[in-house]
Amino acid sequence: MDKIRYFDHAATTAVDEEVLIEMLPYFSIEYGNPSSLYSIGRNAKKAIEEARRRVASSINCYAKEIYFTGCGSESDNFALKGVAYANREKGNHIITTKIEHPAILNTCRTLEKEGFNITYLNVDEDGLISIEELKNNITEDTILISIMFANNEIGTIQPIEEIGRVAKERHILFHTDSVQAVGNVPIDVQKMNIDLLSMSAHKFYGPKGVGAIYIKNGVKCSKLQDGGHQEKDKRAGTENVAGIVGLGKAIQIAYENLDAYNASISNLRDYYEMQIQKNIPYVKVNGHITKRLPGNSNISFKFIDGESLLLNLDMKGICASTGSACSSGSTNPSHVLLAIGLPDSIAKGTLRITFGKENTKEDVDYLVNNLIEAVQKLRNMSSEYLQFIKNQNLK
Ligand SMILES: *Cc1c(COP(=O)(O)O)cnc(C)c1O
Repeated sequence: MDKIRYFDHAATTAVDEEVLIEMLPYFSIEYGNPSSLYSIGRNAKKAIEEARRRVASSINCYAKEIYFTGCGSESDNFALKGVAYANREKGNHIITTKIEHPAILNTCRTLEKEGFNITYLNVDEDGLISIEELKNNITEDTILISIMFANNEIGTIQPIEEIGRVAKERHILFHTDSVQAVGNVPIDVQKMNIDLLSMSAHKFYGPKGVGAIYIKNGVKCSKLQDGGHQEKDKRAGTENVAGIVGLGKAIQIAYENLDAYNASISNLRDYYEMQIQKNIPYVKVNGHITKRLPGNSNISFKFIDGESLLLNLDMKGICASTGSACSSGSTNPSHVLLAIGLPDSIAKGTLRITFGKENTKEDVDYLVNNLIEAVQKLRNMSSEYLQFIKNQNLK
């Protein structure tokens, strides 16, 4: 095996060369603490503020509405718990969906133990929520709607602008976990009426361990971490200066090149899906056919165990995922695939391929050829498949 072919960009991405170059000085010569008043401290502070402006201009908000955090999960915790604790006297009801990332779902479980009431909206077979169901679940006590922008497993993009309109009309705060969407989809928090938004640098060619949250000016949101006065007193702790610089550069590159990037990776994705459908029978493509992240492909292969498929691909240097990296290790079928109505037996044979900027058509051909081979090999070992074929032949 010579080369790694990476098709798991929804799990994480490599740091872009240009991003790394901008980060490097902040590990060495510019090591000052941004709270210090001498020059290297001021330089670090300036670099953070430049990153904040880059984030703000990418999603159309004010720089002072951006707060840096340690990761996407922290931003999600901050949004949900922060809004819940700060608005407790107004109500204790939160609306979210069944297909959120564990960073949202497990935060909701904690809030439930603390007395908050959570409604988990259903999704249809494409992974979309219903605006009607959302409206019908709003009560006098609803303080927050938290619905992900784009799903990390099936890529489905929710009707964010419509959700924002409903939230605004009913005077309810709207948070969106946009960790998969930032850098892949145009985002305008004003036009979309978004009050809080989470992002994470390592999902868009920035470094791991740094995220950000947009909190609209005037929104009541409690801080979760006590200490110094960093991040306008909202998030104590000396800033990850190099990481923040990296996040700022990565988001700038992503939005400057968005159209070309999307065109090229959705081309690869469509080519991949065409090849699979042409060459492998008994497959089902999951997620919405058009309202989907450009680099996402989630396909169920009947009569296949996804883990075995991954191991076979790994032997060929191919990195892919069965569902989400966050739930691998557990053998339960993905909560997202169950929510779109897949039976256990089909959900367990699912492969998530997420394309990124270093992938080429030659990589895709390599992937397809190895998939055809591995699927055939595994099916020939499946008694269920062999029985199925026998019955077909009898007909
Ligand atoms: C990756 C991811 C997260 C978590 O981000 P981290 O930076 O890894 O904590 C949250 N939500 C979604 C949708 C994600 O894809």
